[in-house]
Amino acid sequence: MARFLVTGGAGYVGSHVVLALRERGDEVVVLDDLRQGHRAAVPHDVELVVADLADRRRLDEVFAGWRFDGVLHFAALSLVGESMRDPLRYLAENLANTAGLADAAVRSGCRRFVLSSTAALFGNPERMPIDEEARISPGSAYGESKFMAETALDWADRVHGLRSAALRYFNAAGADPQGRLGEDHQPETHLIPLAIDAALGLRDPLTVFGTDYPTPDGTCIRDYVHVTDLADAHLRVMDALETGPSVRYNVGNGRGHSVKQVIEAVERISGCPVPHDVGPRRPGDPAVLVASNEKLRRETGWTPRYAELDDIVRTAWAWRSAHPRGFDDRSAMPLAGGAAGA
Ligand code: UDP
Repeated sequence: MARFLVTGGAGYVGSHVVLALRERGDEVVVLDDLRQGHRAAVPHDVELVVADLADRRRLDEVFAGWRFDGVLHFAALSLVGESMRDPLRYLAENLANTAGLADAAVRSGCRRFVLSSTAALFGNPERMPIDEEARISPGSAYGESKFMAETALDWADRVHGLRSAALRYFNAAGADPQGRLGEDHQPETHLIPLAIDAALGLRDPLTVFGTDYPTPDGTCIRDYVHVTDLADAHLRVMDALETGPSVRYNVGNGRGHSVKQVIEAVERISGCPVPHDVGPRRPGDPAVLVASNEKLRRETGWTPRYAELDDIVRTAWAWRSAHPRGFDDRSAMPLAGGAAGA
C-alpha cells in the first residue's frame, strides 16, 4: 500500500484516478478548491482538503501532515477558449501551481510526480498518428501552459531528482463502468456529454462545428480515450517511476472518430435522435488529432479496455441518464469499492 496526493481529485479525470487507487488499496488525499470539482465525486473514505494550490503555506501543511509516495497533479485551468481570452492568467497560474507543488514535494522528500498534460501542446501536426517525437507547437495558451509545466518538472528532475511522468491526453471521455462517477463540467464544452444532453432534451440542439474539413464525412476527427483506461495509465506510470526515469507519453486510443460518428453512436446507444444543426468551424480546431499509443503500450503494458466508441458512449450515457443534474443529484455520491448511483 502506498499513499498519494491527488490535486484536482474531485474533477473528471482526477476522480476516476482516485477511485482506481482506492480499488487497489492505496491511501489517497485529495486537494481540490472545488471551483470545478465536486465534493460528491470524492469517496467518503478519502480525505478531502479544500484548498487553493496557490496557498503555499497550506500546501506545506498538507505535505507535513502525510508522507506521500507520489503526487498526481490534475488541478489546473483547462479551457482552451478561455485561455485565448486570458492567456497570461493561464500561463502564470498553471506554471506557478505545478512548480509550487513540485517544490513542496521535493522539500518533503516525495520522489514521484505524475502530471496531467495534453495533446494541445502539439497544435496542428502534419503527421498522424502523433507520437512523442512530434514537434511541440501549442496552438493555445492552455497548451503552452502545460508545456511550461512539463519544463518545470524537467528541471525538478535535473536538479532535485524528482521523477515525473507527463501524460498527454487526447479526448478523455466516458464514465466509470460501474456508474459511480461521470463527466460533469460547468460549463460543458465537450462533444460527447453535449450530444447526450441534446438526446435527453436537457439542452439546446448540438451545433456541429464545421462540415467542410478534409475528412471522409467533412467533420473533425478526434481520438476518444475512456477515462477508466486513462486512470489505468496513471497507475502504471506512477508504479514505473519507482525504479524508472522521467517519461512523457501520449495517451489515446490510437484511432479516430468523426463528430458525425459520435452523433451516430449516441443515437445508437440511447435510441434517441440527437437534435443538431451545423455551424461554422471553431477557431483553432485541427481537422484530425489521433495519438500513437505505441510507446505507452510497449513500456508499461497498457492497453485500452474500452476501445470501442460504443463502449465509451454507453458508459457516458448510463451515468448521465441516471444523473441528469450531475453531481448535484445526491444519488451520484460514490462509495469506494462498491457500486452506487446508476
Ligand atoms: N464539437 C462540435 N460541437 C460542440 C463541441 C465540439 O462539433 O458543441 C467538435 C469539436 O469541433 C471537435 C470535437 O467535437 O472537433 C471534439 O471537441 P471537444 O470540445 O469535445 O474536445 P477537443 O477536441 O476540443 O479537446
